[in-house]
Amino acid sequence: MRNEILIYFKNLLTRQLEELEMQADNQVVDWINRDERATDLIDIAAIESERAYTLRIREREHRLIHKIRQSLEDIQKGTYGICKLCGEDISVSRLKARPVARHCIECKQKMERLERASGF
Ligand SMILES: [Zn+2]
Repeated sequence: MRNEILIYFKNLLTRQLEELEMQADNQVVDWINRDERATDLIDIAAIESERAYTLRIREREHRLIHKIRQSLEDIQKGTYGICKLCGEDISVSRLKARPVARHCIECKQKMERLERASGF
């Protein structure tokens, strides 16, 4: 992959990572503030269900943060943009749509077919 394209993705991924980490910090502060206002049971129940929902989103964020870190490592190792399964180059258009992609579209589709076939 050409160097300027690599730098483009490195900046993109770094920025995404910073944004995600900032969001996570803000959420924790938000929870602490809200707990102080939780004076009755209805409030607490509402907060609990909201918290469960937020946790699911945060889980997804965590996975994304993990993927972004992996991709940044790949950039450092010089393996970014190379399919982890078949070793072919992942197209730049695919990476632009999904910068954390670690598989080419063919392998990704194959994997998805296998996942569906095994009942997930
Ligand atoms: Zn592949």
